[in-house]
Amino acid sequence: MSSPTTCELSKAVIVSPTVVGLPEHIPQEYSAVWPDTLTLITTYTCNAACTECCFGCNPKIQGRLSLQSMLSHIDEAHAGFPALKLVVFTGGECFLLKQDLFSAIYHAHQLGLLTRCVTNGFWGKTATKCQQTVQHLVSAGINEINISTGLDHEEWVPLDSVVKAATALVEGGVFTLITIEADTADSNCRQRILGYPEIRSLLQQPNLFRVQSNSWMPFTVDHQPRTNIINRSELTEGCRQLFHNAVVTPSQELSACCGLTLEHIPEMKIGISGDGGSLTEHYYRQYEDFLKIWLSVEGPYTIMKRLMVDEADDEMGEKLAAAVHICQACVILHQHPKIRQLLQQRYREFVPEIMSRFYLEQAMQVQQAQLSQ
Ligand code: SF4
Ligand code: SF4
Repeated sequence: MSSPTTCELSKAVIVSPTVVGLPEHIPQEYSAVWPDTLTLITTYTCNAACTECCFGCNPKIQGRLSLQSMLSHIDEAHAGFPALKLVVFTGGECFLLKQDLFSAIYHAHQLGLLTRCVTNGFWGKTATKCQQTVQHLVSAGINEINISTGLDHEEWVPLDSVVKAATALVEGGVFTLITIEADTADSNCRQRILGYPEIRSLLQQPNLFRVQSNSWMPFTVDHQPRTNIINRSELTEGCRQLFHNAVVTPSQELSACCGLTLEHIPEMKIGISGDGGSLTEHYYRQYEDFLKIWLSVEGPYTIMKRLMVDEADDEMGEKLAAAVHICQACVILHQHPKIRQLLQQRYREFVPEIMSRFYLEQAMQVQQAQLSQ
């Protein structure tokens, strides 16, 4: 696990906040719109060990947030972030936390927050287990469950379990989204899931059930190519996670995002809970980090394109052309020595434009929030 670090590339807008709250150069109104989400990466342990798992989770990896830690982070975020609406519980496999998960969902629900869990649906194995789990979730006040599945997942969790879990959830009135990995040329998970009569029936209730396909990003050298449908606009837009999301990892590290490559980008770790600052203090310090602001405005792909405009670099061009996901571009930006060098050399020339766009976007969101009240 990497140690926390402030991005050395990006100290363009330095102030020194000495109190909890927004840095002086940020209008107080901004806290009315950001962050709206607290993500608890509850554990790195997983019943599965998918080959291309972004966090390298498996049954042997230890490390989880205790119930006390989850509750205190929820309390702190609720008290310190006026715009907070949603708490996401993810992992690893968050349902391995059993009653602690339900207690934490209940706690967030009692505070008036929406809640979502991300799971592989392993608990859908039997009808009894399904019903018990859904009962616990409904009693705790859950709002949404996302079930991840697909070729890698299927090696550990059969599609039958996913379908049973989804059916029980929807019957319990819980909004459910099944996310399917992009298939390989030879696999047909999406087609097989959509072929289940239960799924076809659930799809008749779009207010309670949806299915989507996701790009499946490679993390191993000998990965099987996927038939990813690349969303070019998503790839080239600003990152929608930065500043929207405050993230806590199982090691109590605070992260700027829970993007797929966050474990590969030390700069995304913005502190350790209780060490040199609270969750809110660490979160607000990101407003001093020009690179995070730039990433939120333009995204990694566009930043690299702009930096590379005068640089004919075939290797970089190939890497960028192969990127199927915004987080894949982000890890290239943070790791590639040439890009790091260009960032250090040239970031100042982008500061006036990017800061103006950032302030403008924030101001528009504040206005929208005020109008919708
Ligand atoms: S189910 Fe999810 S968290 Fe678990 S190993 Fe697979 S990708 Fe990782
Ligand atoms: S693009 Fe970068 S900052 Fe945004 S979620 Fe992905 S890894 Fe995190």
